[in-house]
Amino acid sequence: MKKGLLIVLSGPSGVGKGTVCSELRHKQSDLVYSVSATTRAPRTGEIDGINYFFKTREQFQEMIANDALLEHAEYVGNYYGTPRDFVERTLESGKDIILEIEVQGALKVKEKFPQGVFIFLVPPSLDVLKQRITGRGTENADIIDHRMTVAVEEMNLIHYYDYAVVNDQIDAACHRIQSIIVAEHCRRDRF
Ligand code: 5GP
Repeated sequence: MKKGLLIVLSGPSGVGKGTVCSELRHKQSDLVYSVSATTRAPRTGEIDGINYFFKTREQFQEMIANDALLEHAEYVGNYYGTPRDFVERTLESGKDIILEIEVQGALKVKEKFPQGVFIFLVPPSLDVLKQRITGRGTENADIIDHRMTVAVEEMNLIHYYDYAVVNDQIDAACHRIQSIIVAEHCRRDRF
């Protein structure tokens, strides 16, 4: 059976990866979403097993030791990682899966799955990015500054990606990503 596509949606924090991903899930029900593990505390409204698998640092270390993560990264003081089994089983079953992860993790996935589709979501400008991070209202000033510094470093790694999609409007960005997925399925070298 033909394997599914591994799609990595990455880009700086606050660019709207989460919103674009959840919109894609509505628009494209055949696309499977990888739920990450994290040591970050849940934000209001986040549900364990749906938004993230919330773990203690010890539990997370154990997942690393058991090779249960496809990749993991430390981001602004917390660990984030992609459970490996679920990704591999989904691809084997022929379904496409999307990982919404930060840039260090995306580059690690690229080493293991160079045949993946790597999409960088770009903010319309750094000013807009800062407004989005600030507007979320969940982070204090130090964390916002730290996230902005990391964002600028991450933007410099865009050349590792196959596609750059500007997130000016959610609908338009989703449409571009859906078009990329269709095009990737039509690639001659995937037959
Ligand atoms: P947040 O704390 O805002 O939910 O996520 C912080 C950053 O971690 C975001 O850029 C998000 O995409 C990224 N992230 C979420 N899950 C994973 C993961 O499994 N691995 C990696 N490397 N980054 C992740």
